[in-house]
This record gives sequence, structure tokens and C-alpha cells, in this order.
Amino acid sequence: MRRKLAAGNWKMNGTSASLAEVAALAAAYPAPTCEMLICPPATLVAAAASLPGRGAIQIGGQDCHTGTSGAHTGDIAAGMLADAGASHVILGHSERRADHGETDALVRAKAEAALAAGLIAVICVGETEADRDAGRTLDVVGTQLVGSVPDDATAATVVIAYEPVWAIGTGRTPTLAQIAEVHDFLRAGLVARFDDGDGFRLLYGGSVKPANAAEIFAVSNVDGALVGGASLKAQDFGPIVAAL
Ligand code: 13P
Repeated sequence: MRRKLAAGNWKMNGTSASLAEVAALAAAYPAPTCEMLICPPATLVAAAASLPGRGAIQIGGQDCHTGTSGAHTGDIAAGMLADAGASHVILGHSERRADHGETDALVRAKAEAALAAGLIAVICVGETEADRDAGRTLDVVGTQLVGSVPDDATAATVVIAYEPVWAIGTGRTPTLAQIAEVHDFLRAGLVARFDDGDGFRLLYGGSVKPANAAEIFAVSNVDGALVGGASLKAQDFGPIVAAL
């Protein structure tokens, strides 16, 4: 049985005052039936991880470098995130693929670095609207899955997030059948490649909100969500956690 995961990606949002949202969420869900993860900006990882009221909420980074240390101004090593108290790191988000030209090979190398540092890698895949319109959705996510996930990944160390680029921050979501099609396809790819492929968590991300969370979570092979905008406030993220 795969343990459900409600993950929040704060992206480039939040200052120290935002830690009150972590505390409020933890207070509202002291013993959640799912796992909870918040990935604040790097500036807040250490403070969030050491927050007295963090409760059951796990803390993650949003990116890491492939190396362990060195002359890489502005970058953060996976071991540094772990040292700051992070347990997870999001890798290959479409915004990083687009803004920073991240390729599948780079994402895979980052994931290898994350695993070596003892972090759980939340690896993102997803098609653009043009890909979907051209009927290339499964091709694109399948290629990303093969290229971005390291060979030594296990169900305990890697989580996959399916985030259609056109659904991120737009208020638009795929139909439930479209989500099921992609998640079933990703599951088949994981099962074909990994002995424990059936155990990997598959998150859906893209305009998840309290109003649509329950119906999305009922879809085949959806094991949770990676939530952007609606993860910033406990009053929005809480009902999503509850829907899991
Ligand atoms: P939104 O929930 O704001 O659409 O963002 C999804 C996302 O990109 C999470 O990583």
C-alpha cells in the first residue's frame, strides 16, 4: 500500500513570516493519515525544519546541484539541504527546465546527488500544451521518466510528480481520464524498469485546490499531489491534506 503524500511547492514565495503557515498546518493535522511535505524557498529550509511547531510536516528543497561542494556561486548541494534539515528535494520542475534549461540528463545527475545525500527526490515530468495538442503527451512524459530517474531509484527514495505545464498556475486541469491515462502509463513504465515499481508514489500537480482535490485523489494511480499556489496558506492546503 503506497502512503499518500501531500506536497507543497512554495516556489519563489515566502519570508520568515510565512513559517506561521507551516505551524498552522501542523497544528491542524497533528496526526495526519498521509505524509505532508512543504518545500519553501532555500532561505527558509533551515528555519522551517527547526520550527518548534513543525509537527509531522517534512521539509524539502526545490533544487540542488549535481556536485557536493565547490565553485558554483548561488548553487546548493544536496548535502547542504540535508544538513539544513530537509528530507526531500524537488527536481526537474518544469519551471527549472524552462527557466534554467535543465535537461533530463541534468535532472538525473541532480537526483543521483540527492540520493547520495540521503534525500528523497521528487522528480517532475509533464507535457506542454503544444505537446498535448500534437498527441505527444505519453511520448514526452515517458522520455522524461526514462531520462530523469536514476537507475538506483527505489520506491523509498524517489517520488514522481506529473505536472502538465499548461495546468500549472492556470486554474486549468486535465480531465480525470487524462490524469488516469498518464498516471497508469507512468506506473507501467516504473513497473517495467524497477523491481519495486509498484511502490513509487505518483503525485499529480497543476492547479490542485480544495475544490478539486478529492476527485483527483480518487483517480487510478494518483498517490497525492504537488501543490503550488494552494500550498502557501494553511487554510487552502489543509483541506487538500484532508482530502487525501
Ligand atoms: P499550482 O498548484 O500553482 O498550479 O502549481 C503546481 C506546481 O507547479 C507545483 O510544483
